[in-house]
Amino acid sequence: RPTDLERDLERFTAVVHDYPTPGVVFQDLAGAYRHAGLLRAAGRELARRARGTFNAVVGIEARGFILASVLAADAGVPLVLARKPGKTPGKIQSTTYRSEYSEDQLEIPADALGPQHDVLVIDDVLATGGTLEAARLLVEACGARVSRFGVITQIAALGGASRLAPTPVDALRTVP
Ligand code: AMP
Repeated sequence: RPTDLERDLERFTAVVHDYPTPGVVFQDLAGAYRHAGLLRAAGRELARRARGTFNAVVGIEARGFILASVLAADAGVPLVLARKPGKTPGKIQSTTYRSEYSEDQLEIPADALGPQHDVLVIDDVLATGGTLEAARLLVEACGARVSRFGVITQIAALGGASRLAPTPVDALRTVP
């Protein structure tokens, strides 16, 4: 049985076919983000599920930032930004990756994380897992570990969670 949170997330997600490229079924969470209470509830629930496993949060640009920031502020832990190329000054760790519909680069500041950090990596949607795998590579390149991944929605058919195993993935909703 779906929880109230799952039901609300479903209700405020717009499903857009063939966006941004043909064949993609886009899960648009902008409507969920417009409801301040829902965003906070999603952040709290992901923090609750991961409790005791992390002392830092990494958020993925751009839609992951929004969720990661409320979660990190609520949990009282540092927030590290994994950004698209050319936006992070100083020494960086960088990697290229492929997501369901794009090929891109992610960068984090090289000195933001170290061996003392167990990291919860947050994004809005898990599709193939390419993006979160790239984030894990960056976290490990800094000498830290990823303890868990957290997303609002995972798309089961694309197999992201098995690609990321054995690191656990918390998803507030799973769509086929
Ligand atoms: P992936 O790397 O394939 O797991 O793709 C996840 C990343 O791409 C996330 O940052 C999402 O914002 C975005 N994304 C990929 N597929 C979708 C989709 N069907 N609906 C919404 N966002 C998606």
